[in-house]
This record gives sequence, structure tokens and C-alpha cells, in this order.
Amino acid sequence: MVIIQLKIPFLSCQSDNHYPTNLAPMSKLKIETGDDNEILRSASDTIKPTELKQYRALAESMIKHIKNPDNGGVGLAAPQVWVNKRLIVISLMRTYDDEMYRTIAMVNPEIIEHAAEKVKWEEGCLSVPGETGDVERWVWVKVSFIDPEGRKYALRLESLAARIVQHEIDHLDGILFTDIAENIQLINDAD
Ligand SMILES: [Zn+2]
Repeated sequence: MVIIQLKIPFLSCQSDNHYPTNLAPMSKLKIETGDDNEILRSASDTIKPTELKQYRALAESMIKHIKNPDNGGVGLAAPQVWVNKRLIVISLMRTYDDEMYRTIAMVNPEIIEHAAEKVKWEEGCLSVPGETGDVERWVWVKVSFIDPEGRKYALRLESLAARIVQHEIDHLDGILFTDIAENIQLINDAD
């Protein structure tokens, strides 16, 4: 993964008193599941600059959730926790064995450039437990977004991080990986 514009600041809201204390970040969120789940199937709304503050605690909770190894995720989109807004969190991993990576929140992410070629690889999803399938994704993408503090970025992501961001942006458009996967397999492990 190459960072092409700005360094990613450490996203921490711990000393931030902008959001209500009753929205303290949580490391366990209820994940929506199901092929016909209403919110998973809806297109999510853009977050306006004036609304940013109210989604900071949620962003932090989503980051905590996927950093918790018990939850088994590498990315999460707000509709997966019943919030119909364009917010995702992504672990910036090159491979699943990667141990040195950051997990960041992206508000209103948009793919502004991508590779010419795609690669097929196995995916799963916390919202489609028990299934995996092979999905074609662009090998690299350039994504524009703002962070929960309102700072603008453009990041070029490759390897696994590129796949994760494409999967999560699909969630914001109501698309599940099983819609576009081939060779869907049922697995015993629900995660
Ligand atoms: Zn997913």
C-alpha cells in the first residue's frame, strides 16, 4: 500500500468531548445479516460536514469491533450496524498475515481511479455468515474520503486493502459479495 498524498493521522477520539458520553465506543456491535435485510440492501446516504461529529463515536466503535480478534473482521460498513450512512472502516493490510497495519475510518469514500486489471480471490462477510466465494476486484484503487474530523485524503491501496475497500464501498450501495461472487461455498465456521 502506498500513501500518495497525506500521512494518515492516528484516529483517536478518546480525549474528544464533542460526542455524547452515552455513545462511548464499544468493541462489540450487533452485526446485521441476511440477503434480504432491508438496510443491507439500501444505498446509504452521504454524511454532510455538519453531521460528522455525530458519527465519530460510531467510527471509533466500528474500528474497535474489527480490531477485536474475536469478531473476525478486516473491514466494516455502517449499514452492517444498522446505520444507513456512507461510513466504512478498513484494516490497511497487505495480507491476512500482516501484523503491522492501521485500521482507519473513511467517510464518503469514493473510488476515483483504479487498475485496468482485476484479480479473483476468496471473500467472506460478517453479514453473510457461513459463506465464501470468489470475487473479481481491481488490483489497486485510489480512494478519496474524509476522516471523522473532516480532513480530506486520497489513498492508493493495493493487495488485500484494495479488496477490502471495494467490498466495503459495495455495502454502501446495497451490494453483498454473494451478488457478484462465483463458486459460493458453505462453511461451518460462521465468521
Ligand atoms: Zn461485508
